[in-house]
Amino acid sequence: MQPRGTSHVRNFGGNIRFRPRNQYLPRDEEDVLRILAEHRTGTIRVIGAGHSWNGGIETSGALVDLRHFRRIQIHPDRRRVSVGAGCRIAELLAHLARRGLTLPSIGLIARQTVAGATATGTHGSGRHSMSHYVESMRIACYGKGGEAEVRRVDSGEALRAVRCSVGALGVVLEVTLKCVPQYYVRERCVWRSDLDAVLDNEAAAALQQFYLIPHTWAYLEHERSVAPDNRRSGIAMLYRVYWLVVIDVLLHLGIKLTASMLRSRRLVDLIYRRLLPVCIFPKWRVTDRSDRQLLMRHDLFRHLEMEAFVPRETLRPALAVVSDILRAADNADYEVSAGVHDRIRSLDLEDALENIRGSYSHHYPICVRRVRPDDTLISMSSCHGVERRDWYAISLITFTEPRLPFQNVARFLATTMVRTLGARLHWGKWDPLDARQIEDSYPGIAAFRAICARFDPQGVFRNRFLEEALFGTSPHQ
Ligand SMILES: Cc1cc2nc3c(=O)[nH]c(=O)nc-3n(C[C@H](O)[C@H](O)[C@H](O)COP(=O)(O)OP(=O)(O)OC[C@H]3O[C@@H](n4cnc5c(N)ncnc54)[C@H](O)[C@@H]3O)c2cc1C
Repeated sequence: MQPRGTSHVRNFGGNIRFRPRNQYLPRDEEDVLRILAEHRTGTIRVIGAGHSWNGGIETSGALVDLRHFRRIQIHPDRRRVSVGAGCRIAELLAHLARRGLTLPSIGLIARQTVAGATATGTHGSGRHSMSHYVESMRIACYGKGGEAEVRRVDSGEALRAVRCSVGALGVVLEVTLKCVPQYYVRERCVWRSDLDAVLDNEAAAALQQFYLIPHTWAYLEHERSVAPDNRRSGIAMLYRVYWLVVIDVLLHLGIKLTASMLRSRRLVDLIYRRLLPVCIFPKWRVTDRSDRQLLMRHDLFRHLEMEAFVPRETLRPALAVVSDILRAADNADYEVSAGVHDRIRSLDLEDALENIRGSYSHHYPICVRRVRPDDTLISMSSCHGVERRDWYAISLITFTEPRLPFQNVARFLATTMVRTLGARLHWGKWDPLDARQIEDSYPGIAAFRAICARFDPQGVFRNRFLEEALFGTSPHQ
């Protein structure tokens, strides 16, 4: 397999840039096996759509792009679909929709590849992550004697490992996912007085996600549930146009302009106090097809995101930490609550807090989504043994550049939440922590590493990010 000419590679967020020595666009499994044979003593990483914000795709060795692996095959039972690793989720959803089917769970956008999304535990709200729904995978890896081979993994601990592997087990060639009959989602946006009011509505709105609004610190619930029948509301088309134009474009443009270009804290404040309330229509209750309703155009404006998952029992203190620290970062005189201060003192991070005071003004709604427990080893909502608990993903997004002030605050939040609240960071988003710090958060991590050693004895699929964030070994690139 001949590499094509190499060029610089950049991820969606623009924070990862590198130039691999070799870039490959294989057309079939034989091509992939030849690449593995050729690079058995080097480093191989795979790129999907490049939408993750960490160094997962980075390599100075060989970079493989599976964009030609896009075959979609629905199984006769109509409950499973086998998909080429490089197929974009949007293409798969469109294919399924034409046949009255869909995926049980998707994220906010559909531009990712199927393998990229499952590799990192991509999730929506109210269901498991996409990784949980993987029924089997075909993966190119190394055998005991170091020869390249294709394995089909469909059961046991190996399946729990490949479902979310951050590319550490090999080159995923094909993913078989569960699919379900198409369903419709009924939704509205409604202001809630506090977190209790949001959570009180969770049982009635199982697909709910909610936002903690910076500056006002009010709660906005995106109340969502599966509609009793598949009937589109009369105003669904108008609602789609409203959401695209008002929320996805104009509101984001306003935030980008005021926070990133003008750097005006006062104007951002005005957006959240005056403009956002008049853009929300709580009386609009709209039903539409799931894949239209659940997706947004978050990919229109470049940004950087970190996302921390916390178990249900620590959601409340986690949101207290997030809002208190962001307020102290915004206003140097802000007094954090006693509970949050105790956590910071227990970690000996009081000086670090002083350093970030007044250094960064957060300007984007903090989205919180519930993710059901996954049957995986290391996805963020993975569960272990009999333990079955829901996790809540708390997302922090910035549109400002340079990103260092945001990153300093996000690192502080990540450290505090991981060490005192059992948080886990999203494998596809910005991740400032090293493996030592996350060791205790993932009971399945030792089993995962042992399986990696069986699929990749020489560590060919490891790069610096994986060494630092997952394996806790010395940099290797
Ligand atoms: C605008 C935007 C919105 C987002 N919304 C959400 C959301 O709602 N929910 C959520 O959970 N996440 C979300 N994400 C994160 C995104 O889903 C993940 O980062 C996902 O991994 C991106 O998929 P990708 O195809 O771009 O993969 P890449 O970023 O290209 O790769 C991700 C990882 O998977 C590995 N990989 C990719 N393909 C293969 C393969 N064939 N074999 C082995 N390893 C492979 C890569 O090496 C890398 O480590 C969002 C990202 C963006 C930019």
